[in-house]
Amino acid sequence: MSTAQPPVLKPIVDEPVPVLDARWGEAELSRLTAMVKQRSLFYWKGPQTEALATEFRRHYGLKHVFPCSSGSAALHIAVAALRLKPGDEVIVSPITDMGSVIGILYQQGVPVFADLDPRTYNMDPAAISKVISPKTRAIMAVHLAGNACDMTAICALAKTHNLVVIEDCAQSWGAQHQGTNVGLMGDIGCFSFNDFKHVSCGDGGMVGTNRDDFGQGLSKWGDKCYDRTAGTRDPEELAPNYRMSEPQSAVCTAQLTKLEHIVSRRNRAGSRLTAALADLPGILAPVTRPGDRHSYWFYLLRLDLAALTVNRADFVEALKAQGVAASPGYIPMPVYRYKVFQNHNFFGGTWPARDLGATTMNYTKVHCPVAEAILQDCVVLPLNEAMSDGYIDKVARAIRTVAASRLL
Ligand SMILES: *Cc1c(COP(=O)(O)O)cnc(C)c1O
Repeated sequence: MSTAQPPVLKPIVDEPVPVLDARWGEAELSRLTAMVKQRSLFYWKGPQTEALATEFRRHYGLKHVFPCSSGSAALHIAVAALRLKPGDEVIVSPITDMGSVIGILYQQGVPVFADLDPRTYNMDPAAISKVISPKTRAIMAVHLAGNACDMTAICALAKTHNLVVIEDCAQSWGAQHQGTNVGLMGDIGCFSFNDFKHVSCGDGGMVGTNRDDFGQGLSKWGDKCYDRTAGTRDPEELAPNYRMSEPQSAVCTAQLTKLEHIVSRRNRAGSRLTAALADLPGILAPVTRPGDRHSYWFYLLRLDLAALTVNRADFVEALKAQGVAASPGYIPMPVYRYKVFQNHNFFGGTWPARDLGATTMNYTKVHCPVAEAILQDCVVLPLNEAMSDGYIDKVARAIRTVAASRLL
């Protein structure tokens, strides 16, 4: 009797996902070494935090900047600067991190979700138009996965309706819209240095603006409303402590010196994959507007399930068998479907803005069909600056092979 084993097929991607040898190294160490010799690690006039503001401005030439404790903190500070009245509305994407909406809710504002473009995964300006109301104060443009929103259209809408534009750039360090870095086209730009973002110190954030009316208040909205310049303590309004600290600033400053390298490597890898998948039946590659720069925080594609013989789970299993580190889906559901929204459970089972009549918003009635569809058929692929052209070409070949054999 033959004991021959079935031949073991070699996967097309025959190597593990490339990873960086180290995200942190000499540049960070040298700043941290200088830092431990300081007498204070407080951010105010701290040399590391001042260096961070300077380094950030080299990339983002904003007049007023405030380094802070997280991306969520940056966004909360931005919203606080608007001085919303209870029930005022901020239009935001349904596919995003909770950090986009936390600050709106803490300021007694109302997040209003606008549906997305099916191919860029960013808010569709036409959908934004539809949800603008007399209570709308701002549009929060979330640049998802590293792809810039259509800032030309969003800023035009904001101008027409006298709205403020806040940019959530947490996932889009180095991304550009028509040659301009995201974060510079709206009124206030917000960034994250959390562990998973392009550049990181573990946790940190940055908020910046060119507008003097917002800029002068940024530090107060992130530092208990204390006036550090005057050195006095008689806060006029309520504000949390979202301060950066010197150790975080030391690491972030060093990280930002690597930003352009990181972003250009990611853009090269992502653009190469997108070009290889364009017009591939069964696959809907992400669309970047001509003239924009995608900084690929991760790679989000959609399956054209109507053209395929298998469902998403089986497609992803087939990709994995070919060595592609794919995962089915991104966040499990649009943000408005999270329990906290469905139960309007924002403050101990209550929502003062609604309970006191400042809004009639009911999140159980919100439905953004494009966002729902994206989350049903999307596939996430890891993408990072360690990936060579050769690796990307193998990933593209594996996806082509899997798709081609599962077409209707
Ligand atoms: C990461 C992220 C945030 C929040 O940043 P943190 O630093 O984790 O608070 C906000 N918005 C988006 C789109 C994000 O991806």
